[in-house]
Amino acid sequence: MDNAQIADRLDALAALLELAETNVYAARAYRRAAETIRGTGLPVAELVKSGRASELRGIGRGIEARLRELVETGAIAELAELERDLAPDLVGLGRYLGLGAKRSVELARALGIRTADELREAAAAGRLRSAPGIGPKTEAQLLETLTREGSEPPGRRGLLLNRAWELTGAIAAPLDAEAAGDVRRWRDSCEGLAVVCAARDPRSALERFAALPQIVAVVEQGERRAVGVTVEGVPIELVAAEPQRFGTALLRATGSRAYVAALEPLPDAPDEEAVYRALDVPWCPPELREEPFDGEPPTLVHPEDIRGDLHCHTTWSDGRASVEEMGRAARERGYAYLAICDHTPAVGAVRGLTPDDVRRQAEEIAAANELLAPFRVLRGIECDILPDGRLDLPDDVLSELEWVQASVHGGQRMPRAEMTKRVEEALRNPSVSCLSHPKGRYINRRPENELDLERVFEVAREENVALEVNGLPDRLDLHGEQVRDALAAGVRIVCSTDAHSVRGLGNMALSVATARRGWATPEAVVNTWPLWELSVPP
Ligand SMILES: [Zn+2]
Ligand SMILES: [Zn+2]
Repeated sequence: MDNAQIADRLDALAALLELAETNVYAARAYRRAAETIRGTGLPVAELVKSGRASELRGIGRGIEARLRELVETGAIAELAELERDLAPDLVGLGRYLGLGAKRSVELARALGIRTADELREAAAAGRLRSAPGIGPKTEAQLLETLTREGSEPPGRRGLLLNRAWELTGAIAAPLDAEAAGDVRRWRDSCEGLAVVCAARDPRSALERFAALPQIVAVVEQGERRAVGVTVEGVPIELVAAEPQRFGTALLRATGSRAYVAALEPLPDAPDEEAVYRALDVPWCPPELREEPFDGEPPTLVHPEDIRGDLHCHTTWSDGRASVEEMGRAARERGYAYLAICDHTPAVGAVRGLTPDDVRRQAEEIAAANELLAPFRVLRGIECDILPDGRLDLPDDVLSELEWVQASVHGGQRMPRAEMTKRVEEALRNPSVSCLSHPKGRYINRRPENELDLERVFEVAREENVALEVNGLPDRLDLHGEQVRDALAAGVRIVCSTDAHSVRGLGNMALSVATARRGWATPEAVVNTWPLWELSVPP
């Protein structure tokens, strides 16, 4: 059993505990443990067998016992029991319909139904209204969503890109399908999930789809398409295309709607390239398919162009790996350099480096460079921008460093003029190399800071400071459109992961895709350059 499988089972347990609403605290703990397990490079099944699982963050005795049960027996009895009691397909469908888990369960109990199909029958028979809490208006809404073909589910928050890729990939692989939809365009928050497979016999593909463990209910079914929902109520579409039309189906399912509409009518073709050829239109990278697109697409930056990562953390602040471990992992990715950018004290919630720490870390970095040469570990910092625009380390310390990320963390609720001035001040410091996560948003959780980006672009260009495209899945900041504006203003960008673990370095794919959505060419991305061009002393 690998880490992803273990984490999925814990997530399922958390989801069902939440549904049961018996132990919300435990649900949260399981979710956190699942996250830790997904994030660690250690083989968790092995740790469990040797009784060392509780060495992982957030794994206490209770969770360790569950893990042992899972690793030894392949299942968690409580999870199986909850699955029996709670009818996850009904809950998935209810959530998809906008009902919320608790209400779905109440509805099911009141109507004495156990499955999604029974819910549909009850709706068709006009029995929904007999359930408590379902008025005529809710009934009408539910009926409409249940019966309308190609219906849009009620407004929901999108899935983070990494989760969307995981889910879509896990569904695509066993069906021999390709990921399409928002995921293939690398949208920062994915609502339209879809996979496309080529199938002479669509029935078997649709059956296999419905039987996947991730799909708890099928809410729409046609001859060659189906929409299933996960236990969280996330809808995902399967298109089972005739092989000679696979390319057409893939292009359509990739979207966006506006982009596809502008190309219609699409000719039938077995692969996407052939569709474009038949249309006499140059092939377009999926990341650029948001708006109708004319002409030749630019040569976009590619993950293989990246020569180094310029923002990561180690155990000196809130990272999980040492300087040497991070350096080694970056070298294994084929990079030539890695900047260690731990936090400074003002960040607050986690440990930050004092001037003294910065100099002690330099020794560790020098030692790592001895071991890893010609690979270069750079002395960097993620320095907080204080509310008044000063930086959180003295100038003489900053000027020793080879790469300085400047970051707003605390005090993000500032009015626009003040925030813009604060950032501008920091960018004027000659030691600053790059502005981290410029807008400070967390997708689905925290809106963007009030910051005049146009002004920031101007100052960044004057001061030769790059702007970051932060690859943390819940940040992706700058986002695609902002990257495009930055490049138009003549500003360079950096694709960074802000990795807090070895595994975190893998988020480069998300950062590069986001830069691609902003039309970035390799030259516009600073970390595609060789080290000597970064004005780092040899
Ligand atoms: Zn930060
Ligand atoms: Zn950081």
